Amino acid sequence: MDPLLAGDLAALPELLQATRDYATRLLAGLGERPVARTPEAPSPATLPAHGVGAAGALDLFDKRWAPGFSASAGPRYLGFVTGGATPASLAGDWLTGALDQNGSNRSGSTAADLEDETAGWLRDMFGLGDGFTGAFVSGATMSNVVGLAIAREWLGEQLGVSIAQQGVGALGEVTVLSGTPHSSTVKALAMLGIGRDALRLVPTLPDREAVDVAALEAALRDLGGRPAIVVANAGTVNTVDFDDLRAIAALRSEYPFWLHTDAAFGAFAALSPEHAHLVDGLDASDSVCVDLHKWLNVPYDSAVQFTRRRDLQVRVFQNAASYLGEPGPRPDHVHLTPENSRRLRALAAWFTLTAYGTEGHREIVRRDIAAAHRLGARLAALPGVRLLSPVRLNVVCFTFPGDVAAAVRAIADAGEAFLTPTVYRGVPGLRAAFSNWRTTEADVDRVVETLREHLA
Ligand SMILES: *Cc1c(COP(=O)(O)O)cnc(C)c1O
Repeated sequence: MDPLLAGDLAALPELLQATRDYATRLLAGLGERPVARTPEAPSPATLPAHGVGAAGALDLFDKRWAPGFSASAGPRYLGFVTGGATPASLAGDWLTGALDQNGSNRSGSTAADLEDETAGWLRDMFGLGDGFTGAFVSGATMSNVVGLAIAREWLGEQLGVSIAQQGVGALGEVTVLSGTPHSSTVKALAMLGIGRDALRLVPTLPDREAVDVAALEAALRDLGGRPAIVVANAGTVNTVDFDDLRAIAALRSEYPFWLHTDAAFGAFAALSPEHAHLVDGLDASDSVCVDLHKWLNVPYDSAVQFTRRRDLQVRVFQNAASYLGEPGPRPDHVHLTPENSRRLRALAAWFTLTAYGTEGHREIVRRDIAAAHRLGARLAALPGVRLLSPVRLNVVCFTFPGDVAAAVRAIADAGEAFLTPTVYRGVPGLRAAFSNWRTTEADVDRVVETLREHLA
């Protein structure tokens, strides 16, 4: 054994303790560390021929890289839709690495069964019925890819061909209808060979990002009975608008289509009694995308994909090799998603759901929604600031007279908060998205002070 490796093996308890102490120090300072930086990356180092051991690596990481890392896990990082990591999810994530299970199959370990238990809990938490099964993937983008791959296979089934077998060319022209799809849906269409051009944007309701269901019906009618894919959006990133899922699902009695719902973070509305109506009808989808590294607050990377047609899912993702066996009624995860070998990313979610339950996670969701409303109300009272939409859930989207790019930089440089720029209906603005378990009212007030200073 390499002597450095042998030394680390002998000192493993001390090394893990040192790493733990280091992580504890970083996390203790998270609320006060600059939220984001426009840092210079350290000059590239060459690949070491001889290493420095794990303690040396920790030391070099601390000197070279840690100073440039953002506080994206902290309470005032409001860019994109970014979750943190609850204490229990972090513990689960550490153990995921420590135990290093390959969740791809059921041979010799119950790890895959833990994933099934966790996916079942999430299904119940979001009010999806028993007809759904879930599988873990790396993020909402991959969840959309998997959902749309199943949709593609369903299209083949309608036309009497197997796309997994014959390829996407057997489909002919494909139409995908959506009101305000996330960029990852478009990327998924490119990856799946359906093509970005297959997407037809359907008009939205006036002053809304929610699809106009009458316009959707007209677009479906135009297809003259040809099966299509509809991507419903439950929580758009700019204004967190929600399609009327119930009304869309009802159209299936007249028109043949697969209903995929992107509820990456919007699904969590189900946890707030005042907002649950926004996702009414989610359970009528054929496939559903939910991100977990956003509002469940587990570490990257984690999302879940739900479907009611696991048979089609297996047809697409089946990994045929004699030693893996035929996928039975409880197929191994190797047959469900693009990955074969995979980390047991369900463990972090299992830990946080076990530790805090639905009530604990409901409290996080409600506190974040309240934070967004507080920020919205306080911003609307600032001179020159205008909300670009009502605060519907956890995002505040607003504009102001100054230069957006300059404001983003000034806010980030002040180290107090991080917001991302956007353009909504041609108007440049900023978004503040609340999805971190640590955020308090006091954080919102600090953000308001910073914005007051830098939105000149
Ligand atoms: C974030 C997001 C995605 C993509 O999620 P990743 O986890 O970054 O892959 C897809 N759809 C919606 C609505 C999102 O908010």
